[in-house]
Amino acid sequence: MTNYQKEKPVQPPRDAQNRKDKKPSLPSYKRGPFTWLLIVAGLFILIMIVQKLQGVEEIFWTEFVEHVKNSHIDSVTVKDTEITGEFNETARSQREGSGSFVVYFNPDVQGRTLDKLLQENNVKYNIAPPRMWFWNLIGMILPIIILVGIFYFMFARNLRGGAGGMLMSFGRSRHKLQSKDRAKVTFEDVAGIEEAKEEVAEIIEFLKNPKKFQRLGGRIPRGVLLIGPPGCGKTLLAKAMAGQADVPFFSISGSDFVEMFVGVGASRVRDLFKQAKENSPCNIFLDAVDAIGRKRGAGFVGGGHDEREQTLNAILVEMDGFDTNDQVIVVAATNRADILDHALTRPGRFDRQVVVPLPDLKGRLEILNVHAKKIKMAPDADLQKVARGTPMFSGADLAAIINESALAATMTNKEHVETSDLEEARDKVRWGRARKSRVIDEKEKVITAYHEAGHTLVQSMLEEADPLHKVSIIPRGPMGGATFALPEKDRTMFTKRYCMALLQVCFAGRIAEEMFCDDISSGAQSDIQQATRIARQMILTWGMSKTLGPISYEPDTGLDNKLYFMPSEREYSEKTAEEIDNEVKRVTDETYKKAKELIEANKEKLEKIAKALLKYETLDADDVKVILDGGDLDKPTVGDLLAAEQAKTDQPEPQEEQQQ
Ligand code: ADP
Ligand code: ZN
Repeated sequence: MTNYQKEKPVQPPRDAQNRKDKKPSLPSYKRGPFTWLLIVAGLFILIMIVQKLQGVEEIFWTEFVEHVKNSHIDSVTVKDTEITGEFNETARSQREGSGSFVVYFNPDVQGRTLDKLLQENNVKYNIAPPRMWFWNLIGMILPIIILVGIFYFMFARNLRGGAGGMLMSFGRSRHKLQSKDRAKVTFEDVAGIEEAKEEVAEIIEFLKNPKKFQRLGGRIPRGVLLIGPPGCGKTLLAKAMAGQADVPFFSISGSDFVEMFVGVGASRVRDLFKQAKENSPCNIFLDAVDAIGRKRGAGFVGGGHDEREQTLNAILVEMDGFDTNDQVIVVAATNRADILDHALTRPGRFDRQVVVPLPDLKGRLEILNVHAKKIKMAPDADLQKVARGTPMFSGADLAAIINESALAATMTNKEHVETSDLEEARDKVRWGRARKSRVIDEKEKVITAYHEAGHTLVQSMLEEADPLHKVSIIPRGPMGGATFALPEKDRTMFTKRYCMALLQVCFAGRIAEEMFCDDISSGAQSDIQQATRIARQMILTWGMSKTLGPISYEPDTGLDNKLYFMPSEREYSEKTAEEIDNEVKRVTDETYKKAKELIEANKEKLEKIAKALLKYETLDADDVKVILDGGDLDKPTVGDLLAAEQAKTDQPEPQEEQQQ
């Protein structure tokens, strides 16, 4: 498998810090419904045990009648529907068990014969006064109360989620108020999105100093829409705006509005704005507005439609209702600006739109630096290299890398985070933890080694391709191994030569398997997918085919409603479709052939790389260069490293578990 920036970024788990920001601290009183169930069950069991200890034996009516007839019982007490008493000496000598018994009977059935039975058999009996009605009532009501209580804890608390958890406060908004003095976020913490920062600077100025703006009578923007992929710092920027201006920060997510009950969303909106006005100047942050602000009537949207519309209307009404004295700025975030209702983006509403894009190389380095300040870095740790090796990573991904690297360094008892920790963290954030412990079938390992060696060879030998970063046959996530490229800059443009080189690198894995292993494997699946995607794009979108010429054959993805109603139609003839297929095939075949020739001419080199991979598992660009130049590698093998590690753990001093 090869790695290029064209690949879609995987959304990693957000770092713990962030998660902490988003969830408010729970109320200290948080006994779950199951705890209560356990307590009730425990009580029942306790009562049963106590009864057993008392040694009262429950017997059936028929048994009781037998005992009476056999003169096993001298006297009993009748109370309500139960008879209690003790067996006499005769009975005790004959039967095991405790001396006391209890019989439950139905007064309407057995009750009629009870009197007669006891008298005929000379059993003395006294009738205890019936239980008070009060206790009977309790006996009936208590189970109901318990049931209701359980339901309450299971549902009501979950619904409300917040402190108190009262059923009455359904309509109350669920936003979190961030007061001024709480962990303040400033522009210092936001990196790599300079343009966005500049654009919101004006609004911060307004929050800080509204008088200045009122003097000239200009209309202040009331709503700012932050548009960008997840994890790029929209929430962070909104928080920083509040932090810079030193005002409170309210945040609520669009999905909070769309609840179970119609009308709740709208009332939450009103509540939120009311509170905001009371706290003005302040900043309201609406996360994921697309959950409510979707184009009305667009597409087949199922239930909750009315609810959304009502909520949206409430927001619009509130925003229109601001007067010049309300210093409330509403910041909304979305990653799908194209599906937002136009009513939201009209002047006076969210008319200021700020794009928060994925960071570029420089931005990534800056974000890494911001987060690296919080941890101990080795002086020679190479953040520049990490920034280069992370195209398409979001700010959240980068924050996660720094965090993971610190964890990894801690687990191995290092003084500070080194470049190797950063590398490992990067791979882990993107592809999951290395599965070093997985027992790999020897044959599988050999195939993987040759496959990756093929990628590596072609990647390093083709001038047009990105330089090699490293190659590894340690399985990670779903993959058996990987070859990484290290682009010098982010590519915003793909040349035809670059694409052709890319295709050759993709095919090299499969070709190497074929040539050296006498068999082919499914490991080439993602390579083939990627190659096909590039080839199709070259021809359909980028007009790189001579035969078909510079015509776009892509379905028109204009952002009109059409998109939501019907699948896009093909806009060319059957014949052109055939030609397209032929062209894709031609480009594919051509690059496959070229790659094969290149590998054939460098068979020994590939063999050497594969052997080195089997020995060392991971090779970096320098290692590969040594091999390609005909040299021999001289570094400890995986086996040596493991032995060294083992020796370390065998030492008497206690050592924490090793983690990689
Ligand atoms: P979004 O709201 O766009 O989904 P967040 O603002 O919640 O993303 O970002 C999540 C985390 O990622 C932040 O708390 C921060 O730690 C990190 N992060 C994202 N973008 C940046 C950035 N530009 N500068 C610094 N840290 C960032
Ligand atoms: Zn591959």
